[in-house]
Amino acid sequence: MSETEPTTTDAPEPSRRPGRERGRDDGKFGRYGGQYVPEALMPAIEELTDAYDRYVLGNEDGFMDEFRERLADFGGRPTPLQRAERLSERYDREVYLKREDLLHGGAHKLNNALGQVLLAKYMGKERIVAETGAGQHGTATAMAAAHLDMPCEIYMGERDINRQRPNVFRMKLNGAEVNPVTAGRGTLKEAISETMRDWATTVENTHYVIGSVVGPHPFPVMVRDFQAVISEEARAQSIEKTGELPTDVVACAGGGSNTMGSFAGFVDDESVALHAIEAGGSTLEVDEEAGVAPNSASLFAGEEGVLHGARTKLLQDSHGQIMESHSVSSGLDYAGVGPELAYLVDEGRVTPVAVDDDAALEGFHRLSNTEGIIPALETAHAFGYLEEHAEDLGERVVVTVSGRGDKDLESVIEETDKRDIEGAPDMSMFTGGI
Ligand SMILES: *Cc1c(COP(=O)(O)O)cnc(C)c1O
Repeated sequence: MSETEPTTTDAPEPSRRPGRERGRDDGKFGRYGGQYVPEALMPAIEELTDAYDRYVLGNEDGFMDEFRERLADFGGRPTPLQRAERLSERYDREVYLKREDLLHGGAHKLNNALGQVLLAKYMGKERIVAETGAGQHGTATAMAAAHLDMPCEIYMGERDINRQRPNVFRMKLNGAEVNPVTAGRGTLKEAISETMRDWATTVENTHYVIGSVVGPHPFPVMVRDFQAVISEEARAQSIEKTGELPTDVVACAGGGSNTMGSFAGFVDDESVALHAIEAGGSTLEVDEEAGVAPNSASLFAGEEGVLHGARTKLLQDSHGQIMESHSVSSGLDYAGVGPELAYLVDEGRVTPVAVDDDAALEGFHRLSNTEGIIPALETAHAFGYLEEHAEDLGERVVVTVSGRGDKDLESVIEETDKRDIEGAPDMSMFTGGI
């Protein structure tokens, strides 16, 4: 075997890869990251940092072994790396799909929720709180908490509760309490503040499960490490199937946990190009007067600021006010992005691209009717990107299918009906709902 040929055996241990060292001590990624939290939360943050060092990095008491075993038995890992035959033909390069849609719960979110709830157990906590917007993180957390027999409370904006009833029901089926948040506009931002407030007064017995690579240190590195299983598997699977590393990895970015999980194992492989696909919404133009960004492209269009405990790239107006974001996919609809992802973009290691609602919907239908996989609307942005930019990519492209689309069928009917999309079914018999 030649010196340069990568193999599974000479690959460094995932936890030893230099890319994983970044942000470890002070949570800083260049100018981004940090711990911008109220004094009352500092003890909780310090306790969590210590637990992260010992259990996640140090595998104390076999924490990581138990995490991997539960990901396999409860979660169904490893997920396949599947060659997409029609897409490979269409784009004249090898397209592989990393099938996180096949993880229990139908999205990558369980990797993180299970990791954090298990960590809470190892820390001796007796209660879990979490916030959720569209309900995907709330359902993953409720599932993990039921699996590990931990009481769980989810904060959710009142408006979101009314918009996402199936997810609220799922959480309740798994035994979680769902607390409506009525403050402000009754959406994710207010739910996060409410959860922080709960945590500040209950830190002794409670862990706050944050849903993405956002928030104060150690959340961004910890969530990345729990999600890194995606790229650790994809890297080994790519070598096993093709004898080589992929030339490109493509993943959609909301807060950035799917992207960081898909990229972490490849960051130090300089030959692998990394593409973060953001929600371009209806347009990249911003109505500053109205305080609204008709997109969620914080990597592309955001500016530096502080939100939810970290310095990062944010959609904000010229006074530094956070703007309302927009996307057809609720999971990408967030005004910020993880600090490490913002840093990797500034460094030129990750290329951000915005894909708009139309292209995402077309991508949704294309994957559904050519490959027999109905993707989440978040994921569909990555396939919109492929259609527009395949020629810029190398010979072996891995696309992470972050989740399945069952949750999105109602919005797909509504949004498809407004457009003329090639290959989409006739919507007329479904417009009253399904
Ligand atoms: C939540 C979600 C995302 C976006 O969140 P990240 O933190 O950026 O990963 C992407 N895809 C799916 C299927 C999701 O549920």
